[in-house]
Amino acid sequence: MIAGNRTINYLRISVTDRCNFRCRYCVPSTPFTVIEHEKIARYEEILRIARLACDLGITKIRITGGEPFVRKNIFSFLEQLCAIERLKDISITTNGSLLNREKIERLIALGIKRLNFSLDTLDPVKFGQITGRDRFHQVWDAIMTSHELGINPVKINAVILRGINDDEIETIAALTLKYPFHIRFIEYMPMGDSAVEKQQQVLSEEIKERIESRFQTLKAVIKDSNDGPAKKFRIEGAKGIVGFITPISSHFCSECNRLRLTSRGTLRPCLLNNYEKDIINPLRNGASDDELKDIILSVLSKKPSFHGLTDSSSIKGAPISHMTSIGG
Ligand code: SAM
Ligand code: SF4
Repeated sequence: MIAGNRTINYLRISVTDRCNFRCRYCVPSTPFTVIEHEKIARYEEILRIARLACDLGITKIRITGGEPFVRKNIFSFLEQLCAIERLKDISITTNGSLLNREKIERLIALGIKRLNFSLDTLDPVKFGQITGRDRFHQVWDAIMTSHELGINPVKINAVILRGINDDEIETIAALTLKYPFHIRFIEYMPMGDSAVEKQQQVLSEEIKERIESRFQTLKAVIKDSNDGPAKKFRIEGAKGIVGFITPISSHFCSECNRLRLTSRGTLRPCLLNNYEKDIINPLRNGASDDELKDIILSVLSKKPSFHGLTDSSSIKGAPISHMTSIGG
């Protein structure tokens, strides 16, 4: 599928807006409701949309949420997803807290070789402060087990917030000296009404400077086709890679090859832009495959050239819903 001069081959599917964590940069600070069960896209509906998207040229799918592993029967859904022939690459973004050895082995047996974990601190107490849950050890064990079982690369997403975990930038980066992990520092995006203040945002340039100043060398690494928007570097002698995802300081919209399906069955051409189109209700009302494909293509035609959010955007009242409802 083509949007402007971009080939769109990547679909990101949020299977749930629910999460067992309450990360302060992700969930709203004010009371919020979850989507009613009957409004959540059912697995068979997601699979139909995924198959049609693959007919149109999607070859990669990432499952996200909310937390994908809180949804019941996720493994039987993943099994059916993995059976879609044209699909070359299936990956999952997870907080890791519900993944034990047996589940990771099942994922590997299904052919899922890439997992992204979210981990913003190596301090169990701070972990509780950031995520609202005392689950550091479960997450760390899931990361280490994935590594032992041969998931490669194990990717770790870290959001750095001033006054909360900015003192750990170097320690988190240093994990790459010991392990072949890809640590990706993601700039905090002002989504909806989170508890994070504007002055807590730490941009990639500052993070990179801190790592360079501690480890002296940080050499650029050539990207491969699975890297997405991360700019990648290696500390000299390190087994792993440090990456920067810079939606705010240097937007990568011109390279963005993604389409998103939210858990309530809307398609979005951009995470940070409010445009979305309902596909679930037409599907439930009997739309044909061709009609559904037309919806997918019409959403693509709306892919913006720039998301419009900058480091000077107001954090409060940013014109978008929170991350769990769209799928990060
Ligand atoms: N629950 C899973 C997890 O935490 O990995 C998947 C969903 S989560 C929304 C996906 C990614 O979005 C995580 O890596 C998280 O750190 C990131 N994220 C959430 N809110 C964010 C924000 N406001 N700015 C930047 N990244 C954010
Ligand atoms: Fe849940 Fe992931 Fe959001 Fe944290 S970042 S609250 S784990 S969806």
